[in-house]
Amino acid sequence: MKLDALAAAAGQQPIDYQKLVFDYRPHADQRAAAPARHPVVVVGAGPVGLALAIDLAQQQVPVVLLDNDHKLSTGSRAICFSKRSLEIFDRLGCGQPMADKGVSWKVGRVFLRGDELYSFDLLPEDGHARPAFVNLQQYYVEGFLAERAAALPLIDVRWQNKVIDVVQEEGHALLTIETPDGPYALQADWVAACDGSRSALRQLLGQESHGRVFRDRFLIADVKMEVDFPAERWFWFDPDFHRNQSVLLHRQPDGVWRIDFQLGWDADPEAEKRPENIMPRVRALLDASPFKGAEFSLEWASVYTFACQRMDAFRHGRVLFAGDAAHGVSPFGARGANSGLQDAENLAWKLAAVLRAQAPDALLDSYAREREMAADENILNSTRATDFITPKSEVSRLFRDAVLRLARRHEFARRLVNSGRLSVPATLHDSVLNTVDVDAFDGRMVPGAVAADAPVVLSDGRAGWLLHRLGATQFSVLVFGEGAGAQASLSALAEADLPLQVECVPLDAAHALAAARYDAQEGTTYLLRPDQHVCARWRRPTAAAVRAAYDRALARI
Ligand SMILES: Cc1cc2nc3c(=O)[nH]c(=O)nc-3n(C[C@H](O)[C@H](O)[C@H](O)COP(=O)(O)OP(=O)(O)OC[C@H]3O[C@@H](n4cnc5c(N)ncnc54)[C@H](O)[C@@H]3O)c2cc1C
Repeated sequence: MKLDALAAAAGQQPIDYQKLVFDYRPHADQRAAAPARHPVVVVGAGPVGLALAIDLAQQQVPVVLLDNDHKLSTGSRAICFSKRSLEIFDRLGCGQPMADKGVSWKVGRVFLRGDELYSFDLLPEDGHARPAFVNLQQYYVEGFLAERAAALPLIDVRWQNKVIDVVQEEGHALLTIETPDGPYALQADWVAACDGSRSALRQLLGQESHGRVFRDRFLIADVKMEVDFPAERWFWFDPDFHRNQSVLLHRQPDGVWRIDFQLGWDADPEAEKRPENIMPRVRALLDASPFKGAEFSLEWASVYTFACQRMDAFRHGRVLFAGDAAHGVSPFGARGANSGLQDAENLAWKLAAVLRAQAPDALLDSYAREREMAADENILNSTRATDFITPKSEVSRLFRDAVLRLARRHEFARRLVNSGRLSVPATLHDSVLNTVDVDAFDGRMVPGAVAADAPVVLSDGRAGWLLHRLGATQFSVLVFGEGAGAQASLSALAEADLPLQVECVPLDAAHALAAARYDAQEGTTYLLRPDQHVCARWRRPTAAAVRAAYDRALARI
């Protein structure tokens, strides 16, 4: 199928994303006498490359998106997409189909043997447009992103275009690309390497990822069954139906359930993948549940191992690494695709600003530093969870088992149980793009934090959401109040004379949650980056302070 046909078909008929095959189409660049030059080439049309290409196109940057394959991802890959990812998809113009198709959830339950130890709620407060998580097969996410990409003329997707070489030259990178019609070359001002965990670009540049490989194996079984487990995350330590190991259960759309069975390092991956070995495991789980005897069929199974690791640096000259190419974690915590999408949104506006000559290329160093820091946070969380689920020594196992036993009765022990701390966006505390507070504030909206959502009343009186009102591609400003204080802040912004999208939020009952989340008073002003991170805030800004914060956020000072 051609990508434009996909755009036309979208919304008219259900598309089977797993069977979708995109056409290879020769491009004029392949016949050019000299390599064509493009501002940005994104390598890899996985979730991260697709999101980045869409974000860049929305910022009016033409993008060439290369993928060595001509299909979306198949089988058992990501399913848990976080609230932040949905907010990013909203900004990219494809959040609604994700939210509509996905199974929303926020509660997790942790069991030891047959007993529930405790439960947790990932979003106990109301007043957010998006739920804590949706479960949605990765091929749907890629499908909805591909549909959105198809609607943006500035994206030139080239399937079956495999990058086989990259050389950094003066002022550009030179890529060699293999196609069914033979190789050709392209020059790019900037290359985004979103080519996955086995990144060819990483190897071609002589780089490596460093970290820990875990000696454990997990069977993933995606199973179709008509059962009515709630839309919650259920995690068992040492259940009676799978002794001495752990099991994780998630509901997906289309009546499919994801079950992860821990197998241990000595398991034979080939044998474990055979249906005759998987079926009894699923049967044992069901028979230990209220759905004893329920029928099921196997959709997909795989056995995986994992590593927590990252590249030392995400920027190498004109090549910027994002997503699995740059970092990897275990699936416990759902921090792989979710953090990759945050990489993409961090990189997009910075590349656009550099290409517009609005910012020096030092802004791209901040991409690397901010996302390396976020990767460290994700790796730390993922490693801790994995160490708890798979203790590395007898002493660790004794500690783990004691914690689990104590957690039956004691709150303090429950806090030590770790079945995976689920993905939340990193707060970029140490970013050089932040302006340090000069005024006193309470709460979580510190410089570096992702802007919190809240209900708002739109100008036509309808109910809306704060994040939907922010600019999709530019810096935004929130000014709270409608009195003299707000007027003074608005005057300072007018005097600063910057390309900012200004949103005024009244301090009334309808906006009480927004005011509380931003610790707002009359005149309080927040400056937000295009990726919706707070970069500065004031009780009463001056034009000079706003200009300086804006310059700092663009790495101009
Ligand atoms: C079992 C499992 C469960 C998971 N669960 C979750 C979850 O619940 N939540 C979550 O957030 N994450 C999860 N993940 C992680 C998630 O799948 C990855 O983090 C995500 O796919 C990374 O996206 P990406 O775009 O960086 O890379 P990929 O999805 O790997 O995409 C890379 C793309 O690059 C292309 N490519 C490769 N080499 C070249 C080349 N030389 N030239 C051109 N193109 C190339 C590939 O064809 C591919 O399309 C899970 C992973 C696994 C294995």
